[in-house]
Amino acid sequence: MSVLSRRLLHVFYPNRCPVCSSVIGAMDRFCPECSGRLVPWKGSFSVTGADSFSAAFVYGDSIRPAVTLLKSGRLGNSAYALALSVADAIGDNGIAGSVDVIVPVPMLPDDVRKRGYNQAEIICRILGDRIGVPVAAAAEKFRVTLPQKELSKKEREINLMNAFRIPSPDLVKNKRVLLVDDVCTTGSTLAEITRVLRIAGAAQVHCACACKTPDIKNQST
Ligand SMILES: [Zn+2]
Repeated sequence: MSVLSRRLLHVFYPNRCPVCSSVIGAMDRFCPECSGRLVPWKGSFSVTGADSFSAAFVYGDSIRPAVTLLKSGRLGNSAYALALSVADAIGDNGIAGSVDVIVPVPMLPDDVRKRGYNQAEIICRILGDRIGVPVAAAAEKFRVTLPQKELSKKEREINLMNAFRIPSPDLVKNKRVLLVDDVCTTGSTLAEITRVLRIAGAAQVHCACACKTPDIKNQST
């Protein structure tokens, strides 16, 4: 969405903070109070097989309402706020200027129909506009997986095995890919998609998320 259309829309539907719902400026991400409470992610984390990992925020109480809104089917300002925060995170570490294509972590088509959108894809579109990199929904999820929450690390890997594919490898072949998701917990999902992207010929795979959970074992995704 252009700056002008955001400003126009704001006249009729005032922009709101995705954490506390207070009215904010048309181009703002969060209100100043919530913004001051957000915890930037500064940890070191690696996804098996990936070239780098970036995240904007530590997942916790201060950002959780924005993620809930993102997955609610309504979006509000959540995708805009989170996508631009990811743009900053990958700008800070130099990744933004060295990727050729942005690929969202896919959802099952049935799940996309239920929610009305894939939130990772919406984040990618806004992010792509901001950093001037094209988005290709090159990865596809085609098998139902169990919720990751209750599974051990090994069980997670088995659960995700052969759940993703790259139907048109040309979209990623010899390209530096930025793989994007909303929340990352153990990195198992990103690792499995990174694996299939490599098989499809991706030259590099960089992973980026809006939020990374603190290092607590055995959480979901
Ligand atoms: Zn707020």
